[in-house]
Amino acid sequence: MPETRRPLIAGNWKMNGLADESLLQIKDLAARASKISDPACDVLICPPATLLRDLAKAAMDSPVAVGGQDCHANEKGAHTGDISATMLKDSGAHYCIVGHSERRTDHGETNADVKSKAEAVLREGLIAIVCVGETLSEREAGTTLDVISDQVRNSLPSGATAANTVIAYEPVWAIGTGKTPTVLDVQTVHAHIRTELNELMNDANRVRLLYGGSVKGSNAGELMAVENVDGALVGGASLTAEDFWPIVNVC
Ligand code: PGA
Repeated sequence: MPETRRPLIAGNWKMNGLADESLLQIKDLAARASKISDPACDVLICPPATLLRDLAKAAMDSPVAVGGQDCHANEKGAHTGDISATMLKDSGAHYCIVGHSERRTDHGETNADVKSKAEAVLREGLIAIVCVGETLSEREAGTTLDVISDQVRNSLPSGATAANTVIAYEPVWAIGTGKTPTVLDVQTVHAHIRTELNELMNDANRVRLLYGGSVKGSNAGELMAVENVDGALVGGASLTAEDFWPIVNVC
């Protein structure tokens, strides 16, 4: 991996975590990360918004950052139940995931919605992690690269740079299933994303591309070694420091 792309290992806790146990986990992770004088990657936990402020405080003096899992495209207003990027930042977030497939499916988010949300993230000076990925039927139909092109082209925020935007490739069928694509499939899709980005941005070669979908300690090494894989977005295996640390340690 070129030195200009510092790996990012990001945990997505989804709708998991209550205060006491979560604090124990982030403190454990922060302590492990703090023992390393010069960590080789950025480490991020995206907890539910209810935990963000407490976890940000607990990890404050460590290399572990916290981020949101989603945000509204607007800064504030009459949007019951929603949370803005402004609020995430106010709670201590440095990143926000947008366009996760569970948001696209459960909440009908379109590429245009994802783009607007990512732009809200950038307006706050946070880093957007824009998720893309094909469904099983799209893969079986042989349309994976077309789907990815469409998502990358139409979800990428205007003003995206390598400093403020990360792309996460997460095949929908690999999320939470224990299944992962072959190394060759990951390499093919990541190279394709890089090619698409080259047409859309000036510093595309420095954008970090994460792989996500059933990443765990036992497969992280193989996946991280793939060309153009600059880190991981991890769901289930990020919930405890014990499971997450071996993935961070791959860097
Ligand atoms: P998983 O989830 O690691 O549990 O498959 C990944 C994700 O949805 O980001």
